[in-house]
Amino acid sequence: MEKYSAYTLRNFREIPQLQQHLSEEELFDIEVVGNVLPFKANNYVVEQLIDWNNYQEDPIYILTFPQRDMLQPQHYKEMASAIRAGARKPELKLIANKIRMELNPHPAGQRSQNMPQIDGTELTGVQHKYRETMLFFPSQGQTCHAYCTFCFRWPQFVGMNDLKFAMRDTELVIKYLRAHPRVTDILFTGGDPLIMKTKIISAYIDALIEAKLPNLRTIRFGTKALGYWPQRFTQDNDADELLRVFEKAKKAGLHIAFMGHFNAPAELRTDEVKTAIDRILNTGAVIRTQSPVMRKINDNSDAWAEMWQEQVELGCVPYYFFVARDTGAQDYFAVSLERAWRIFRGAYQRVSGVARTVRGPSMSAGPGKVHIVGVSEVAGERVFTLQFLQGRNPDWVARPFFAKYDPKAIWLDDLYPAFGKERFFFEEEYPIIRPAKSTKPSKSISNGIAQGAALN
Ligand SMILES: *Cc1c(COP(=O)(O)O)cnc(C)c1O
Ligand code: SF4
Repeated sequence: MEKYSAYTLRNFREIPQLQQHLSEEELFDIEVVGNVLPFKANNYVVEQLIDWNNYQEDPIYILTFPQRDMLQPQHYKEMASAIRAGARKPELKLIANKIRMELNPHPAGQRSQNMPQIDGTELTGVQHKYRETMLFFPSQGQTCHAYCTFCFRWPQFVGMNDLKFAMRDTELVIKYLRAHPRVTDILFTGGDPLIMKTKIISAYIDALIEAKLPNLRTIRFGTKALGYWPQRFTQDNDADELLRVFEKAKKAGLHIAFMGHFNAPAELRTDEVKTAIDRILNTGAVIRTQSPVMRKINDNSDAWAEMWQEQVELGCVPYYFFVARDTGAQDYFAVSLERAWRIFRGAYQRVSGVARTVRGPSMSAGPGKVHIVGVSEVAGERVFTLQFLQGRNPDWVARPFFAKYDPKAIWLDDLYPAFGKERFFFEEEYPIIRPAKSTKPSKSISNGIAQGAALN
């Protein structure tokens, strides 16, 4: 069994590849930025995914190792001087938290607007935004095998709890599902729910099977484990048992869907990941894939065409192409909506129909998942054609609407209705809060509309 070695801020300087390739200055940058943004890597990512001979341009290196430019200069300076002055941990934490507060940690009213109740109890581990699908954040699954630098789910990255919690959460969830017969899907998300030990996952799944909920048809897992630790399905001591859990749910008549995150082609190339995919598919589960488009990681059509093609050959179904949301190091990763569409189109044109199951570019924004269908010219005006793939109100879905063309727009709150209209059709129900134009110093502190960066 391959040993899992975690690298964090405490021990990253021990990574041999870093010692061999990085300058002291670069190591210090990791320390500074890693005190604010999440940082965690492991031996698989370091040894098998990163090309160290070209690490500065390597997508997986940028995806997992904090980079200096991911912080705004004033934030970098503040943290760097504190570290240089020998500040202790609690002091660094205070500074980090202050900076984080300016980085929009809970975009899209995630917290306040989507937390349901049952019998007057708030379901803290549940989000229910789209009618058919309930998101469930099991308390033991709120961390990951490694952390993506673009992710802002760290406010919820907490320690592991024990089995008892799993049982208590499940009871409430089942109650909620009974009370909401339109929900067909439960999506386990995090963090990464597959960080959980099999016995905990199995406790959740068994309870759902035994509840025999007539409305529940699909159990989904939003996971990055195939990218960051495929050994979870091959070598870990409870890997086989995990596959038996999927088989059991499948036999009980449920559809088991993996929403696998793959950000760059390298994640699909190791023998380990290929074996893991095979083993999962053999249980009868389906693997669907998704990722945001991000500068320096996958902002070119070649990478996407290659990923989709490779995924199809491995038996996976390309599913979503997301726009990176307005939180965290968004200034660093941002790709304009127009460019995202051009990248998508370039890749989509290059693959055959079997890979065109993918949809995007899509913004997971406050009112819903907004699809940038493209740039068009309508009645002499240049516009973005948009539609909802998911809506807070299901009636909004699949109705084309139009925004003024803006080559700089990177998020929904940058867009204005076309044809002289005051508001988008859905804004009577759900107004978009647009940052005041003149006082908009930078995107990452504009507390706008967004959601689901982690895209689990
Ligand atoms: C994306 C998402 C879902 C799942 O949507 P599908 O289109 O069914 O995959 C569910 N809830 C939230 C909040 C989401 O962002
Ligand atoms: S994007 Fe997903 S895998 Fe990456 S750190 Fe965030 S929750 Fe974890």
